[in-house]
Amino acid sequence: MDSETARRNHRDEVDRRRTFAIISHPDAGKTTLTEKLLLKGGAIHEAGEIKARKANRHARSDWMSMEQERGISVTSSVMQFKHRGFALNLLDTPGHRDFSEDTYRVLTAVDSVIMVLDVASGVEEQTRKLMEVCRLRDIPIITFVNKLDRFGLPPLEILSDIEETLALETVPLSWPIGMGDRFRGTYNLYEDELHLFSHADMQGEHERLAIDSLDDERLDDILGEQADELRFDIELVREAGDSLNLERYRDGIQTPVFFGSALSNFGVGDMLDTFVDIAPPPQPRPTTTRTVDPNEEAFSGVVFKIQANMDPRHHDRMAFVRVCSGQFERGMTVTHSQSGDTMRLNNATAFMAQDREGVERAWPGDIIGIMNHGTLKIGDSLCAGDPVEFTGVPSFAPEHFRKVHLEDPFRAKHLGKGLTQLSEEGAIQVFRPLRGNDYILGAVGELQFDVVLARLEDEYNVDARLSGVNYTCCRWIEGDPTIVEAYESDEISNLFRDASGALAYLGLSTWRLERMMEDWPELNFKKTKEHV
Ligand code: GDP
Repeated sequence: MDSETARRNHRDEVDRRRTFAIISHPDAGKTTLTEKLLLKGGAIHEAGEIKARKANRHARSDWMSMEQERGISVTSSVMQFKHRGFALNLLDTPGHRDFSEDTYRVLTAVDSVIMVLDVASGVEEQTRKLMEVCRLRDIPIITFVNKLDRFGLPPLEILSDIEETLALETVPLSWPIGMGDRFRGTYNLYEDELHLFSHADMQGEHERLAIDSLDDERLDDILGEQADELRFDIELVREAGDSLNLERYRDGIQTPVFFGSALSNFGVGDMLDTFVDIAPPPQPRPTTTRTVDPNEEAFSGVVFKIQANMDPRHHDRMAFVRVCSGQFERGMTVTHSQSGDTMRLNNATAFMAQDREGVERAWPGDIIGIMNHGTLKIGDSLCAGDPVEFTGVPSFAPEHFRKVHLEDPFRAKHLGKGLTQLSEEGAIQVFRPLRGNDYILGAVGELQFDVVLARLEDEYNVDARLSGVNYTCCRWIEGDPTIVEAYESDEISNLFRDASGALAYLGLSTWRLERMMEDWPELNFKKTKEHV
């Protein structure tokens, strides 16, 4: 292959990739939607497969049995499927009780997001939190309003909820005709097409009907009195609403909205078609020195998640690496930018597509899993060309805190070592007060504490106990050294250093935090901290 053809092939591979996550509040329908998407893409054959995985996940009563399921959690954490010639990578965002900092970090590895809302509830707490993370990089968002086969909030109310709570412009691309028992289907606002829902055959194919315009009399024949309701709604939406603007969507300002019912596979196909058309392919990514373009020839990638204990006897860890540029081939040699060491990537088989020659390759936007013994840490970079250090996979300010108590004081050194390693993996955050010797743990999800206690005992032979503390918020402090020094002596009782030595404030209330931020306007109080 000459180099021009190789470049063109590479560009094609990049252009047809879509790497994304689904964000939602528990029970809005993420699992159901995932299953329908994978069925469409032929990635799973049996309805219920993903459901069963989810059931497994929630059947785990403690962390050890959870670990027995780890094979499952790894294979379902990156799902590859195809749609209309596009290669899609869907990254799982753990929710419910396995909500953790990993959930946030997954969002640093995607190029866009599908947001699922339950029509009965609108925007809920977990969605709002995940949206905040999407905002850090202005990730484009497509909205799917789910469960229209049930009764819920009026569609206009859902749109204004999104606009007000999430500060996103909404552009409905389909419009629901009734809901619950009166749900008749959706109207495609761009193609003037009716998509009819069948209550009798919820899993069957749903009929589509192209019509001339809203004045078409066939609307009255089919929808009866609901035809006029639809005309009224559409007129309102067309008058009041914005029209789809690709740039505003790509900038994370505007969200196209679809209505449907994931359970009945209704509206899912329309959304997926639009998704592959408008969602961005793998995007350039920032490093400490320059921006890396996915079309660059040399391979580069960034670690955004670590799955520990793949094999407890060997302390194996799997680093999830997002390919950022070039092409990955198993067995290739790369430089680990942070240490300068070279690594041969033999143990990197997960989540990779096999091409016709049976060679395992991955392109930008794909995720590869690399087995290692703790060399790779969250935020690390691997490069085949000149080493760069990617940014954009930060630590996120914890929301839950615990104090560590050691049962056997002679194990203090082991405790320190264990906590340092666990924090490097991103399993937990560790803070030590400027004055005093306590270890304070910080987490985004409560389950992280259970995991850390179990792993301290299992891997480091440390018997520790946790107790509650009154902290509710955390910010990393940055600013002019002389001002930071003055601030340190003023606030010393609330100041800590994290495992990397960065200065952090742990606060008792957001109200106090806000007051303090007003008192120290020259300082930056950051909700995320970069690893480099
Ligand atoms: P997740 O927690 O967001 O993954 O939600 P699930 O996909 O597990 O769905 C939660 C519940 O809502 C399950 O009982 C689903 O069967 C149900 N569900 C999901 N989508 C729909 C839908 O379109 N209509 C109805 N009526 N129920 C749905």
